[in-house]
Amino acid sequence: GKPPSSLAPVDPLKLKALSMGLSKELKIILIKMQSAGRQTFNISEVEEQRIPLCKISIKNTATEVIRACKGTRVKGKFKESFLLPAFSVKPNIDIEIPIPREKLNPPTPSIYLESKRDAFSPVLLQFCTDPKNAVTVIRGLAGSLRLNLGLFSTKSLVEANSDHAVEVRTQVQQPADENWDSSGSTQTWPCESSRSHTTIAKYAQYQASSFQESLQEEKESENEEEGEQTSDQSAATKIIKFGTNIDLSDPKRWKPQLQELLKLPAFMRVESSNNMLSHVGHTILGMNTVQLYMKVPGSRTPGHQENNNFCSVNINIGPGDCEWFAVHEHYWEAINKFCEKHGVDYLTGSWWPVLEDLYSSNIPVYRFIQRPGDLVWINAGTVHWVQAVGWCNNIAWNVGPLNSYQYQLALERFEWNEVKKVKSIVPMIHVSWNVARTIKINDQDTFKMIKHCLMQSIKHIQILRDQLVAAGKKICYQSRVKDEPAYYCNECDVEVFDLLFVTSENGSKKTYVVHCEDCARAKSPSLAGVVVLEQYRIEELMRTYDSFVLVSNTS
Ligand SMILES: [Zn+2]
Repeated sequence: GKPPSSLAPVDPLKLKALSMGLSKELKIILIKMQSAGRQTFNISEVEEQRIPLCKISIKNTATEVIRACKGTRVKGKFKESFLLPAFSVKPNIDIEIPIPREKLNPPTPSIYLESKRDAFSPVLLQFCTDPKNAVTVIRGLAGSLRLNLGLFSTKSLVEANSDHAVEVRTQVQQPADENWDSSGSTQTWPCESSRSHTTIAKYAQYQASSFQESLQEEKESENEEEGEQTSDQSAATKIIKFGTNIDLSDPKRWKPQLQELLKLPAFMRVESSNNMLSHVGHTILGMNTVQLYMKVPGSRTPGHQENNNFCSVNINIGPGDCEWFAVHEHYWEAINKFCEKHGVDYLTGSWWPVLEDLYSSNIPVYRFIQRPGDLVWINAGTVHWVQAVGWCNNIAWNVGPLNSYQYQLALERFEWNEVKKVKSIVPMIHVSWNVARTIKINDQDTFKMIKHCLMQSIKHIQILRDQLVAAGKKICYQSRVKDEPAYYCNECDVEVFDLLFVTSENGSKKTYVVHCEDCARAKSPSLAGVVVLEQYRIEELMRTYDSFVLVSNTS
């Protein structure tokens, strides 16, 4: 005879079992029978085997995950990582083997495009997003694509929006590979700069006069006698202003500029379907929108990794050059330790690495010049710092190519931010669910990681839900509306997904404040005065989870 095959449960019987007051769920299996040459079906009732929560994996269905949660008594807060170490795709970089000194200054991967077509080749995307390549410079990309960078020149910017806001950083000009402490006696890591505000027109004036002054100085020094050149010019500290974080998000104000950037290959564009930042559902200024930088020589962007370890795209508009330093993500913890040693916060502080410290710790540093028209691709997690060599403008934004390496690093930083009580600018749980709903994934590693994150998310929600219900706390369903943002805890800045702990603050107008469970309980252990809102039906999340499957490459 043929082997028995199981079919889907029969609903009427299940309903009957429930109506009879049975609390246990029955799984009804139809068993195909062979009798006298004809196929018949027998109904067999099998008591459901519940899988223990610790045995649940992404191979299980949402129903099995939920059932396992319900069958587990979790005392206190359930807290598990959204990542599974076994799924890690990080490259193996051996830090035990000492790197010879000359290899601590590796050449930066630089790509020269033969034709416009090469920019759109999948090979370029593959190269830029390869976990081994911390940074890629695409030389003369603007020229190859005939981008009109003139639209971002200081003259054009003044003509377009002269009153637009510019954040100013006041800094001390110094050689790119030096960072002196305030006494000027030793090199150090912290590099604080004071912040103020101005307009594009006013900064443009400063930028132009700074250039004129330097021409004047050059002329004067040429006129001086050779012997008098020894005067200690280097000792005089020059204060400079760096125009930063200029917001180019408004599509009406910056239409020609933003339109020009649509000429870029899809994976570099501000918006594209395979970019996680295009699935946030709202604007994250400077990440999924363009920012502009206006510089004079010495303008410094201190060391950092991008928000949530996302990739970044940076084009030098010119006319001057920029000098870049970059270190592979692999070494970020070593750099973090240097910051701690020097009393500057790695995530939120301003620091400029002392190169000798990095070399003596066996950390390779990429160092290169970005000329006008060059595009710098900062891969996921790369630590980098930049200084202007000449007078120039730059434009930059972030992208999150949907690959396993980017996704892993983004989630890792999401969890590290929570430890350090720093806000994750990218709400990764919200984004993961959006991606699962809208994108077909054909890469196995990426699929497994996202699926695991969704599973962990469901577990957290279901266990918390059951605990609240068991304690007699009412949960109010309130569906999300269009363009509703992701939520963060008002106190600790952690992303709050699905179950929101809401209080209304007293005041003339009623304002509602979202908290995470911990912060809500810190205020009121019994959650008195706290409304628990649920933004998704659990069935809705279960459906999304079950429908999120690996799509084969060929279909
Ligand atoms: Zn909180």
